Amino acid sequence: MTATPLSMHHLHGHSLNDTKWVIQSHIAAMFIPSLFTALLVKKMGLKNLMLVGTFIYALVTVIALSGEHVMHYWWALVLLGVGWNFLFLTGTSLLPQSYQASERHKVQAINDFIIFGFQATASLMAGWILFKAGWHVVVLTSLPFILVLFVVSWFYFKHERLKALAETTTNANTLTILQRGEPVLSAIAKPVTVIDSEEIKQLVDDLKITVASAKGVGIAAPQVGVSVRLFIMCSAPSERYPHAPLLAPSVIINPEILNASNEQELGWEGCLSVEGKRAMVSRHTSIDVRYFDEHGTEQHKTLTDFLARIFQHELDHLDGITFIERLSDENEAIDEQQWRAAGE
Ligand SMILES: [Zn+2]
Repeated sequence: MTATPLSMHHLHGHSLNDTKWVIQSHIAAMFIPSLFTALLVKKMGLKNLMLVGTFIYALVTVIALSGEHVMHYWWALVLLGVGWNFLFLTGTSLLPQSYQASERHKVQAINDFIIFGFQATASLMAGWILFKAGWHVVVLTSLPFILVLFVVSWFYFKHERLKALAETTTNANTLTILQRGEPVLSAIAKPVTVIDSEEIKQLVDDLKITVASAKGVGIAAPQVGVSVRLFIMCSAPSERYPHAPLLAPSVIINPEILNASNEQELGWEGCLSVEGKRAMVSRHTSIDVRYFDEHGTEQHKTLTDFLARIFQHELDHLDGITFIERLSDENEAIDEQQWRAAGE
């Protein structure tokens, strides 16, 4: 970018107005995409956007090398801006994900120093290279860097794909979800004694994959026939629960409610073990809870609203209760189709 005005105005005799227009367009192209880059990341993923950004950079060199008319400069600089935006955004989002929390400040400082150090050096060198060797050489000096970017993006692309593959080939199994009427669903489950046992780890993996494939927001061990005090909460918007908040799957072991708000609230519930039924169930709106996570660490939390509801629903399963038993009349439960038709 710094060499462009010199090249346009001094070497190729373009007017200052044209030069100004190209630089203004470049700066607009650097920042305007930010309005929708986050959306693109969500749609395409970081790795794809990194590859697109790098591809745009390569396209810039092709356009810049193909001529010195105003439009060549304009397209090259606009695409350079867009490519920079994509790569800067993906790069800065990847950076904090790639290090431990304790290393982050140091890494951020090193990263910023390298970026701005490079920027200053390149700006100073661009003019010198331009007058010594010409515009084409300035453009060509960027090629090795673009090549490195391709290699790095490609490596990351492959790494992410392998990771995704590894996740799908763990030995987790989708288990059959038992339906109300099975004795285990009305039994009181036993506390987990050894949290870091192989059996519990396997059970947690299996439950996670089972609840995900059933599009549930929670599942308790008794629902797959294992009578222990363990459940998974994995609230996320889905077709079963369109208004559910997003929460990473949490493993809840030996849970207790220490305190519950007097205030209760009616809300729609369904259950993977009561297929095709929904009902309004009254639950405490806020609860203080204690449980152990899958690492055996004791957790204290205050849960409210929908998350408090899931916790109470799943805890009920550990005590042999489904939401149907919470109703004063079993007939209060309606068919899921009816519930859907009511627009909930
Ligand atoms: Zn349930």
